Amino acid sequence: MEDPQLPKKRQLPKLMACMTKTSLENLRNRALFSLEALDAKGIRRRKRPLHQCLILELRESGFFESSDYLQDLIYDNIQLVKNDDIGIVVDLRKREDYLEHICAGLIQAEKYRDKGDTKKECLELLALAIHYAEMGKGILWLAEKFFLASIAVSSQYLIDGGRQKGCCKYHYAKFLLDKFPGADPEEPFVILTEVRDCAIGKDWPLYEAVEGEERVSTEMLFSATAIQLHRVLVNKARTCRTKEVAKSETLARLAERRARDADDVPKTAEAIIEIGISQLMMNNLNNAQKTFEKAFRIHTESNNIEGLCETKMHMAAVMQRLGEYEKAAKLLTEMGALAMEHNLRRQLGQALHLLGELHLRSERPELGTQHLTEAFHCFLGDSCLSDADTKRQAETAKKDGDDIDVIFEEETKGVVYEVEAEQSRLMMSISAGQELMASYFNLIREARKCSIAKIKIIEWKLSKSGWWVKRYHHDLLPCLCPIHKRSPLDILRIQLLKESPAFSQSDVDTSLGRTGDIQDIRKLRSSFGSVEGNKSKYISLISIYCIKTFRFA
Ligand SMILES: [Zn+2]
Repeated sequence: MEDPQLPKKRQLPKLMACMTKTSLENLRNRALFSLEALDAKGIRRRKRPLHQCLILELRESGFFESSDYLQDLIYDNIQLVKNDDIGIVVDLRKREDYLEHICAGLIQAEKYRDKGDTKKECLELLALAIHYAEMGKGILWLAEKFFLASIAVSSQYLIDGGRQKGCCKYHYAKFLLDKFPGADPEEPFVILTEVRDCAIGKDWPLYEAVEGEERVSTEMLFSATAIQLHRVLVNKARTCRTKEVAKSETLARLAERRARDADDVPKTAEAIIEIGISQLMMNNLNNAQKTFEKAFRIHTESNNIEGLCETKMHMAAVMQRLGEYEKAAKLLTEMGALAMEHNLRRQLGQALHLLGELHLRSERPELGTQHLTEAFHCFLGDSCLSDADTKRQAETAKKDGDDIDVIFEEETKGVVYEVEAEQSRLMMSISAGQELMASYFNLIREARKCSIAKIKIIEWKLSKSGWWVKRYHHDLLPCLCPIHKRSPLDILRIQLLKESPAFSQSDVDTSLGRTGDIQDIRKLRSSFGSVEGNKSKYISLISIYCIKTFRFA
């Protein structure tokens, strides 16, 4: 065997079969020829950063406007990067791919401009804008610049009687709405209204087919704008609802009209439901009911299951407000059944949660707790899926093996509606508390006659041990009430029976200790007596507690 410390044998260079003098010469010439030829431009690209080279190159090839534009872009970018505290803005100087792409687009646009083809110039800028709108948050500023440039070009020449201008503005407004969802929608709203005003009665397509292609889409600028206006109006209606309900209703009505402009059935129904919610909030119950019925008809015609679920939910809210709990419960049950049939877990959870709340409100906390528990599991995706679904999940679980990874588990469960689940859990605990409170009042009522109930109350007050838990020592207390009917002597008999070998249960634990002989029973009896003496004190304590809890409830 070779010693590992010895150097390896030197590998001989691979010899070519016929290395003559001419073939060597050829080889050398070919190598020389394929070397990258560096002209002045190439040398500059090696020595200076790309953005500077590109600005100079554009100028040298006669694209002065593009060169100036790029220079301005870089300048603005540097300012933006400087003021960016979070470090999110993309530094164009470091993105050579972006720089080349922008440069190519600008050259193309300027070529069209020189030819007098303003429309193509505008489309080129718009294409750049739409491209960078989808490239992440750090580059949105660039997209916005290109949108504004395309709007400027199109409005300067009013191409196609204003169609191009309208399209550019539409895309810009949609960009603002899509990419800055938290921002004030006023600016896009104004822009969209302007577009709508221009496009009324015109059959301007939103997209035009590129030469030699089939028509891309039949969408019209007017209806596309109407849909975006609907979106803004519905959102506005939702945000101002708590403060200005009447205004919210007006906005929702406007949204409905816009959706009808666009012939969009689901969006029309959405707006109608918003009108209904506002009416409900104004306590305008009859109108709200009519409005929801209108939406219900629309959803029934188009067989929109999610819509039907939502409408039933709102109709149940109206019924609840009218005090018709039975009708409300019926609507919610129907909603749950519909959701279960179509595997809409979120809607099923909502139906269960609302049913739970309804029961709680109508003072049936035991039903409430049950429904709310179901809602909680439903939102988490634990159960209540259809059989097919459960089977499929079981199979995937088998394939994955034991839960190795939490991510896997989440995947088989599907979406977890955490916020909703948390709300259900909260309501569930409130409901369970209400249940306990009711049983506490029963216990107090019982305690008038039953000493065991009395002991349970005392134990709860002294050591917070719950009366709902069954405890062994309660069986060893004498009580003369019609339910228990046992004297101290009976207790003794029970004890003796249990201590006999036939009934050996020696290690039963009682927190009151063993009451093995008569002495002990007497002791117990006397301590019980002292409690009896303090009865009035305890009862008054309890009544104070009751008053407090009642106030709370
Ligand atoms: Zn009793």
